[in-house]
Amino acid sequence: MVDAQIAGRGVRDRAVLEAMRSIPREAFVAARLRDRAYDDTPLSIGTGQTISQPYIVALMLEAAAIGPGDRVLEVGAGSGYAAAVAARLAAHVDAVERHAGLARAAAERLASLGCANVAIHEADGSVGWPAGAPYDAIVVSAAGPDLPAALREQLAVGGRLVMPVGERGWGQRLLKLTRIDAGTFRQEDLGGVVFVPLVGTQGWAPEEGES
Ligand code: SAH
Repeated sequence: MVDAQIAGRGVRDRAVLEAMRSIPREAFVAARLRDRAYDDTPLSIGTGQTISQPYIVALMLEAAAIGPGDRVLEVGAGSGYAAAVAARLAAHVDAVERHAGLARAAAERLASLGCANVAIHEADGSVGWPAGAPYDAIVVSAAGPDLPAALREQLAVGGRLVMPVGERGWGQRLLKLTRIDAGTFRQEDLGGVVFVPLVGTQGWAPEEGES
């Protein structure tokens, strides 16, 4: 998976490739999907959510330029897969998930894999996780209408925010925002992507019938 789908498509960061190799993606999907765990595709994790495509996880973590001493925030923990990979690169990861069932399952999975430097929090991560700020890197695994002010504020100087922004389901761009100093940010566009919606105070409203 790593050679063909990730290095083969241009991810060069050796630490990211090593971290991707060390985390078994099959441990993050239901038993009936295990034989597809290394396919280059998102897979269902229940409640209408998906574990991200491995290439996209690697691309986002490379863009976030996570170093060994970094404190990282992931918004949209889902299965916990991306958080587990990020935890291999960082000192500590706070990962926020709005669905209680997913948050609980992710926490259990990470504990059973021995990922001790990840804390899963059940909350609306569109406002970040102020208790753990500032962060050297913030990775958002769901697409919002714009870059939330709360997430900009929770970036350390020099910190990187990587997040998909755009309409629900289409026209999304993966953006990288770097905090140059307290009041200056640099924004880059990393290309077109498709993510589930970020639902929350600084994201989208839940759709009718959605919990
Ligand atoms: N990184 C995950 C991908 C999960 S998909 C993985 O590796 O498995 C995106 C997740 O974002 C979904 O689980 C969804 O419930 C969650 N999400 C959406 N809006 C959120 C919000 N405001 N706060 C926290 N999580 C949110």
